[in-house]
Parts: sequence; structure tokens; C-alpha cells
Amino acid sequence: MFQEPFLLDGREVFVTASIGIATSTSGTEGASELVRDADAAMYVAKNKGKDRFESFQPNMHADAVERLEIQVSLQRAVEQQELILHYQPIVDLVTGGVVGVEALVRWNHPERGLVFPATFISLAEETGLIMVIGQWVLEEACRQARAWHLETRSDAPLKISVNLSDRQLQDVRFVDQVRVAMERADLHPASLILEITERVITKEDDVVMDNLRRLSALGVTLAIDDFGTGYSSLSSLQRFPIDIIKIDKSFVDRVANGDEASAVARAVTDLSHTWGLTTVAEGIETAEQMSALRDMGCNLGQGYYLGVPMRAEEILSVLCEGVLETKTAT
Ligand code: C2E
Ligand code: MG
Ligand code: MG
Repeated sequence: MFQEPFLLDGREVFVTASIGIATSTSGTEGASELVRDADAAMYVAKNKGKDRFESFQPNMHADAVERLEIQVSLQRAVEQQELILHYQPIVDLVTGGVVGVEALVRWNHPERGLVFPATFISLAEETGLIMVIGQWVLEEACRQARAWHLETRSDAPLKISVNLSDRQLQDVRFVDQVRVAMERADLHPASLILEITERVITKEDDVVMDNLRRLSALGVTLAIDDFGTGYSSLSSLQRFPIDIIKIDKSFVDRVANGDEASAVARAVTDLSHTWGLTTVAEGIETAEQMSALRDMGCNLGQGYYLGVPMRAEEILSVLCEGVLETKTAT
């Protein structure tokens, strides 16, 4: 039913729903147990990409308990400073030089070890903890970038990319937080790149639009992350002060095959350049993918082939080498 549009004042409006279904098997379950099970099934539906339904299975119980456990310990993680940042090099596909790094948050969990963002970011978004986490990531990334600048004294200072949650961009205080973070770290705005989702700009939210304009006016660079996975068109991006398009890994994966995905990557690159935007290919894993992307004019790349996310200390040695020589020789 939800796949059909609703008519409001003659306009077609689409609504999506994540639905969890629980059925009584013994006939003795109480309402609260059934609702709890339906709730667990609904979270599974959300995790599988939303806009779908799931029926309750007993193993979903364990998942729900784990979610709760993570939620509780995440609060502690923020207070106990268990979060850390890893940094992945972003490389000029022509010269092989490292032009920047993307900050990626990890959770150093006392029992579970290193926990990746897929496990906790969406939970943090649901509980609102993402605001504190996002603020910490921003401050720490700016501080680290400035420290590298002082250590390397390069004429082309390394840029730092920070991922934003939609919720941060929907907050009217966000731009001030960014300004304070840069001031505290003594980081020049030209060194900071903020990565936003396609989803957040398709929402037509006035606060988001205003924040993006103000960030751009501050001199901060804005990038669209995972481009091609959402529903925006390249032309709609022209209404936003975007400077960088990050081509999603799903296209990069197939770029060396010469199939439809590589045609998409080429079209995105061509159009981006027509509009004066820079393109970054995400998730490059092979030499073939890298040369195919370079040949189609993609400016920058990121991926395990060029460098995995690493600790701050490890990045320094990569920076000192300057150019990833073996890689560009291919
Ligand atoms: P993203 O921003 O698209 O980051 C790229 C992800 O792809 C990273 O995963 C990175 O480790 C992984 N990756 C890079 N190169 C390759 C490759 O060649 N092959 C494969 N298979 N993967 C590659 P990670 O660190 O697990 O982060 C996942 C997502 O979590 C990020 O996707 C980003 O959306 C989100 N995230 C990470 N840090 C933060 C943060 O500080 N704040 C927020 N709001 N989200 C974050
Ligand atoms: Mg990103
Ligand atoms: Mg991405």
C-alpha cells in the first residue's frame, strides 16, 4: 500500500514505512511481548535499508539485546574517550601525491576490540549521541590536521575530510561549532572538507540549506559522499554550494569492466568537470580500477589499493614519502 502515492491537494506524495510484524504463536503472549517483538523486527527492517517489512524471528531478540548493550556502552565510550580516528589517504590520480586524508571514527571497545562505524553510527543517530560524537570528531580532526601542518611544513597543506551526520546539518548551531573547532585548532578553513550525504540535500530542509551556504561562506569545502546511491540528480546539486563529488565504490568496483557502471562513472566525471567540481573515486582496490579512473579524468582517489585507513602516527610516514610511487607507475 505504501508504494502507491497519496493524493494531497491533488499532489502525489510518497511516504515510506519500516514495518515490523509479530504474530502470536502460542496464543498466550501478552500485548507488551508482541509489541516488543514487532519492535525488534522493525529495527531489522530499518537496518536492512528501511522502506520494507520484516517478520519477527527469535534470533532478532538477541540482536535487540545487543543493540541495547551497545547503546548503553556507547554513552560510556564518549565519556571515557574510547573513540579514536583513523585516517585514509586521498591521492591525486595523476601525480600519486597524497593531497588529503579522510577521518574515519572507530570505537576502541574494552571487550569487543576495534568497533567500526557500521555497528554504532546509526544507533548514535537514533539516540542523538551522534551530536556529541560528531563534535568530538570535528575537534579532533582539526587538531590533528593542524599538528600535521606544523610537522610537515608543506606548501600544499594536507586537507582533512570529516563525515557529517544529517542530524548535525539540521542543527542551527552547527556552523558555529565548525568555526569554533577551526579557531581552536588554528586550522585554515581551506584545509577542511565536510562530507555530506545525498539524502540530506534531497530533503529540501531550510536549515540544511542555510548551514551549507554559511559553511561555504566560511571557506570550508563541501563534498557529497557515496554519490550515485541516493536519489539526487547531478543537475539538482547545482543548487547547493558543493565543490566535490565522491563517486561511490559500487561504480568503482566495476569501472575496469567497461560496462554500464563505467559509463556512469565517466558521465559523472565529465559533468562534474563541466560544472567546475572535483571528483574523488571511493574504494579503489586494483591497479586496473585506478588507471581506468585516471583515464576518464577523475581527479582524486581513495581505496585499499592506495592506502588503508590508519592511525595518525602511520599517516606521517606516508606523508613523508610524499608520492605513492609504485602505484602511479602502473
Ligand atoms: P564513507 O565516508 O563512505 O567512508 C569510506 C568507507 O569505505 C570507510 O569505511 C573505509 O574504511 C572504507 N573503504 C575505503 N577504501 C576501501 C576499499 O578499497 N575497499 C573497501 N571494501 N572499503 C573501503 P568505515 O571506516 O567503516 O566507515 C563507514 C562509514 O561510516 C563511512 O563511509 C561514513 O559514512 C561513516 N562514518 C565514518 N566515520 C564517521 C564519522 O566520524 N561521523 C559520521 N557521521 N559518519 C562516519
Ligand atoms: Mg566519507
Ligand atoms: Mg563514501
